[in-house]
Order: sequence, then C-alpha cells, then structure tokens
Amino acid sequence: MRRKRGKKTMLHKGFRDPKLAKRIVEKINEVAPKKDLIKICHVCGTHEWTISHYGIRSLLPENVEVIAGPGCPVCIVPASEVDEAIEVAMRGATLICFGDVARVPGSHLSLMEARARGAGIRIVYSVMDAVKMAEKEPDRDFVFFAIGFETTAPSTASEILKKPPKNLTFLISHRLIPPAMELMLGMGDLQIDAFIAPGHVSTIIGLEPYEIFPKVYRMPTIVAGFEPVDVLLAIYMALKQIRDRRAALENEYRRAVRWEGNTIAKELMRKAFKIVSGDWRGIGRIPDSTLALREEYLEYDAHEKYNIRIEKGKDIPPGCQCHLVIIGKIKPTECPLFMKACTPQKPVGSCMVGIEGTCRIWALTTHGLKPNQL
Ligand code: SF4
Repeated sequence: MRRKRGKKTMLHKGFRDPKLAKRIVEKINEVAPKKDLIKICHVCGTHEWTISHYGIRSLLPENVEVIAGPGCPVCIVPASEVDEAIEVAMRGATLICFGDVARVPGSHLSLMEARARGAGIRIVYSVMDAVKMAEKEPDRDFVFFAIGFETTAPSTASEILKKPPKNLTFLISHRLIPPAMELMLGMGDLQIDAFIAPGHVSTIIGLEPYEIFPKVYRMPTIVAGFEPVDVLLAIYMALKQIRDRRAALENEYRRAVRWEGNTIAKELMRKAFKIVSGDWRGIGRIPDSTLALREEYLEYDAHEKYNIRIEKGKDIPPGCQCHLVIIGKIKPTECPLFMKACTPQKPVGSCMVGIEGTCRIWALTTHGLKPNQL
C-alpha cells in the first residue's frame, strides 16, 4: 500500500521544485538590470545555507550579487563576552551554553579550551535544560550563557519570568537584527541595493521593524522563507522593485510571518529585557542592538552576582578576516586562511565555528563536507 504524503512534505517539495525554480530564474533574468552591479544583502545564516547549498548564486545574472550580512548569532558574540563566560567558570560556577558557542574564540581561549583547563562547562540544547540542571543540583552555582537573536531571546525571557532557582544566573548576550541592518546601510562602500530579511527572526518581530528601510532609506526589503524557491522569489521581488524604482516592504514568507509577529513572544521579551547598545564581534558598538535584564530581574544577572564586566576583548585573531566576512565585504574564499589554517575541524575565526557562519557554510558546501563528517 502506498503511504500518503504528509502536507508538510508536499509543501517542502513545492518550494524545492526545480521547474518552478527555473521559471523564477527566467523571470529574474527578465527584470534584472543589464549592466549595473546590484547587491542584495541577506542577514541570516539559514539563507546563506540555502543559497550556498543549492548553488543559487550560480543561477543569477553576473551583475547580481547576493552578500551575507551579520546573520550568524554565534559569530557576532564579542570576545569580551566569551571572556566573561570563561571568567565565571574559572571562579567556580558551572557555565552552561550551546554547543557551537563553546568553540568560539575568546581573547585567549574558547570555552572548550577553558574546559580542558578545568573550568566547569556544560553543553545544552535549550535554556530549559539549564533550568532543570539548576533544579537538580541546588548546591551548585550555574550560569547560562544566553546567546542568539530575536528567535531565541523569548525562551530565555520566558524562563527568567518564571523565576528559576536562585543558583542559576544568566549572561545575556542576545542581539537584535534590525539595528545591524541599519548600521550596514551606513557603510557607504558596501552599497547595498536591497535587503532580504530573515524569516525566523521575522516570525517573532513581524514586519513593522523593517518599515524604516523602504521609508527612510528607500531600500527594497523582502522578508523571505528558507527554501530555494523562497529565496529565488525574494531575489526576483527585490530586482523588480529596483527595476521599477520602488522601495517597499514585502512579505514572501506569508505562510509563517504576520505583520504583528508573535505578540506573546514579543511581550515576554519586553517584560524581561530592556534594549541597550552593545558590541558585535568585528563590527563594534551598535546603538540599541542588545538586550539586558530589566532592573526587577537583576538577581538573575551573572554580571551582578560575580561583579564582572570585561569591556574590551580581542575579537579577530591574526590573519582572520571575519570582520569583513561578517558584513559581506569579502567572500570567505578571499580570506588567505580559508581551508588552509582555518577549517571547520580547526577554526581560527568565529565565522568558521557557528553552524550559521558564512565561512563554515562555504567550507561545507565547497568541499562537499557534511556536518556529521566533522
Ligand atoms: Fe576568519 Fe577563518 Fe573565515 Fe578566515 S576563513 S575569515 S580566519 S573564520
């Protein structure tokens, strides 16, 4: 008996349909300007994965370039915050973090290297695991290193609002995508012509935070999903706006993103966090781009408990070009260390560590490696 295909499988198949993709590529060729160089910037590691994995760049006209902005949450964690996490672990607390952030270089060591020297570091899949650990071992002090964009911040907020056990505090390292996009527009030499906004983040924040880009900066902005057809459609929509000299905010990812986003998740973030300026690795300080605990939750702030604040770290190891890769100014292959001194097995810079890091994605796709081969 033939098994019925699930709705989800069919949906994915449609968004990976080669015939449909071919038709969109033809449309892209019809609307793309014939001479001018057009730069479309995305800010999402999953978009970069789709673009690299499916060879989307090779399908585009030569003068249409898709560049990767700061869309990897692990890559942009500044070294100073990794140093802080190591410091609390060295002082006897057990530091809990996600697997990929454990390999991100700090100024001198990564968390993994600190663990090899005796620091208490544990890896988890979610903040809920950290809460469970703290409940199970009430005599041990735990610190959760909370990294990620608007997609993971609501889970951290939710646990903090539920008042976790007092032996668990947080190093909040959550960052916001729209301020980073705005900063990129100020980098004159990048000359971006359109944005593809990240689908996952947009399911939380909705469309409203992107309104500024077409309204103030005259920048076509398309919120897109992650299947190849989604990305091709978004490129087509951006190019059509450029051809028509329009700048609008459009939603290609209607099946998941609503105008208002996820109001419950936004409310959780608003209750637990305030927005402050913060450093991004390789970029520097971005105004109103970082989350910090509100005063009423300071008892959960590891900075307060351990009286620790490291202002400056060494973000970029010698020879590494992550500061240029993170803003899409160069391709990973333009870094002299790419797949020589710096590989997914032995990363030098943060862009080769994060699973959404541009260098790591290029390393896997250009060398035919699979994540489970590493
Ligand atoms: Fe940094 Fe490695 Fe990427 Fe070069 S290849 S920019 S060293 S992460």
